[in-house]
Amino acid sequence: MAERKDSDSRKLLGRLRETLAAPGGGQDRLDQITHHIADSMGTQVCSIYLFRDPETLELCATEGLKPEAVHQTRLRLGEGLVGRVARSGRHVNTANAPAEPGFRYMAETGEEVYSSFLGVPIQRVGEKLGVLVVQSRDARQFSEDEVYGLEVVAMVLAEMAELGAFLGTQSDSLPSAHRFPTAYRGATGQEGVAEGRVWLHEPRVVVTNPVGEDPLKEKARLNEAVAMLRTTVDSLLAATDMGRGDGAEVMETYRMFAHSRSWLRRMEETIDLGLSAEAAVEKEQSQARARLESAADPYLRDRLHDLDDLSNRLLRILTGQGRDTGAEMPENPILIARNIGPAELLDYGRKLKGVVLEEGSVGSHAAIVARALAIPLVIHAERITSEALNGDTILVDGDMGIVHLRPEESVANAFRDKMAMQAEAQSRYAGLRDLPATAKCGTTVALYMNAGLMADLPSLESSGAEGVGLFRTELQFLARTRVPRRGELASLYSRVLENAHGKPVMFRTLDIGSDKVLPYMKPQDEPNPAMGWRAIRVGLDKRGVLRMQLQALIRASVGQPLYVMFPFVTEMQEFEEAHRLLMEQIAREQRLGHATPSDVRVGAMLETPSLAFAPKKFFEMCDFISVGGNDLKQFFFAADRENERVRRRYDTLATSFINLLEQILQRCDDARVPVSFCGEDAGRPIEAVTFAALGFRRLSMRPASIGPVKHLIRRVDLSELKRVIDAARDAGEVNLRRTITDWLARQ
Ligand code: PEP
Ligand code: MG
Repeated sequence: MAERKDSDSRKLLGRLRETLAAPGGGQDRLDQITHHIADSMGTQVCSIYLFRDPETLELCATEGLKPEAVHQTRLRLGEGLVGRVARSGRHVNTANAPAEPGFRYMAETGEEVYSSFLGVPIQRVGEKLGVLVVQSRDARQFSEDEVYGLEVVAMVLAEMAELGAFLGTQSDSLPSAHRFPTAYRGATGQEGVAEGRVWLHEPRVVVTNPVGEDPLKEKARLNEAVAMLRTTVDSLLAATDMGRGDGAEVMETYRMFAHSRSWLRRMEETIDLGLSAEAAVEKEQSQARARLESAADPYLRDRLHDLDDLSNRLLRILTGQGRDTGAEMPENPILIARNIGPAELLDYGRKLKGVVLEEGSVGSHAAIVARALAIPLVIHAERITSEALNGDTILVDGDMGIVHLRPEESVANAFRDKMAMQAEAQSRYAGLRDLPATAKCGTTVALYMNAGLMADLPSLESSGAEGVGLFRTELQFLARTRVPRRGELASLYSRVLENAHGKPVMFRTLDIGSDKVLPYMKPQDEPNPAMGWRAIRVGLDKRGVLRMQLQALIRASVGQPLYVMFPFVTEMQEFEEAHRLLMEQIAREQRLGHATPSDVRVGAMLETPSLAFAPKKFFEMCDFISVGGNDLKQFFFAADRENERVRRRYDTLATSFINLLEQILQRCDDARVPVSFCGEDAGRPIEAVTFAALGFRRLSMRPASIGPVKHLIRRVDLSELKRVIDAARDAGEVNLRRTITDWLARQ
């Protein structure tokens, strides 16, 4: 019986393929398709509903309903049984349709005589195209095989729609979700606006032949590809050596999926019904995606993501389409990805005009790289990876966290106006370049810039920064496939110093670990990498790399001052140890008869609350201190900087955090050690004036922020702002943002 079903299904798919190969317009084809399906399923009705726009479905072809209803009958998403199938992405199978909740009777179609209803979604991975329906007079419940068979047919229709196979004389009657203008409301990862064309980090795999002629051959192809996938997954897991704990468990489930017999069996069954191996994988993937959309349990969502990821890998193996599909990157590329690591983002470098992520977080290092590259970044743009296609026009508004994909002309024009206004504001700020950031009360704040790439150095001149307050050295380590050599680093650092033209550059030694994983370093099995083996902890345990880096810095700074700071110092002893290591390297150079820097200044990043309470001796030992507000805030509030949900809850201008900063300032002042603030908050004008009012005399920020920050500092009286802050604290305010912004608005 099952075999007869399989051959029926293959016969139907064969007929569909012939229909699509024959000459003729889109409507004729659709009509013939509905006819063949009704005939093969033994139903009186078969109808195809397609999305007219993201909210509306239109009856586009029917066998059995009144022909005059075609292109007239429309349903909203969620309306009636058809709308329910479209919204949920799942089939509805009922013997008594009028009795179903939500049933909507459409008089113009003449459907009242049909009792049974089976509707399945026409969808590609993550993209809803429409609904395929069969109806019959007798009150029959469709069997599981019939449901499955119709889903397979819908799958083929989806692939064919994707390939434009329906496009004929009435092509406008067949919209695709890939053609609509779509707007996404995400969150700001990095301010700025950009217009460009989509470049997908993981391009969609195109399945060119959804129908398989020879099931045996298709199954052999699938099995071969699955075997290859399993080997890749196994070696991937062996290489990452996740060891024990949660990480290992998660990877084990991933491996389990790859080895799942039922996954393979379901795909083989689909092939038996007439699909090609690729289409069978996609069918499974579509269903997993539909489940993913409605799954609330985060664990389940993660597992469905795993399945999605595995399906993508399998599709790439089957179609031979790797990441490198040979497509040319368009001009003004805007990168679209689900998520991206800092190293991968660096690989793209400054070619990109913007980045849009489905996931991501403001505090992540990918966001910091986007900031270093000065490109707008929008995070949490849900579903964009499945809706955007390479080359689509796209507008990214990093200020508002909004993305417009395939925008209407009016939206694009308004956007261009905004870009022009921003350019104008930047040119106004350029007028401030050579002026000091002196407030009305006469206090001057030194504005430095953060950097991490050679390409950042020209901004030193154009922004008017007084120096580089934070040079993140890990970016060079991240962008390579092996540990850089001492000579390479020394020549890079000396080029940095040359291009700084005598302005100071504060080099921060390697800060890896946490989310900054070097591609060539064995990843650690750490449940909590941000609080794990990172930064100075790695440097002190693996001294070879730190020593080599210090030697490179010393050699690059011969005859001029060298500023070195150590990241993530938690206890005084760590700083002492790192300090000693640096001095040893200088002594070594002298022993070897090499010239040394004219002066060496050693600083610590204050990024953990514990360091704020270190003994006074620690502050006295430092030549300077730099508050790394990104990490300090994360550990002060115990809120992961990578996790938007918790990060957003806590404000830099919360009284408690301001109190902490004030204590740090006091302790630095007592020890007469200069202190700066170099976290991302220093580049936000309201935060920056607040820090200046508290007593910070040096702020380090991304170059583009220097103009706006300087502009605001020059407009205010910092001692008056300090009085306002003190009064609000005395009055018991737990958050100072409102008081400060109200006061600023009156200036
Ligand atoms: C910080 O933590 O504030 C900082 C400047 O370092 P990073 O963002 O590189 O961790
Ligand atoms: Mg940090």
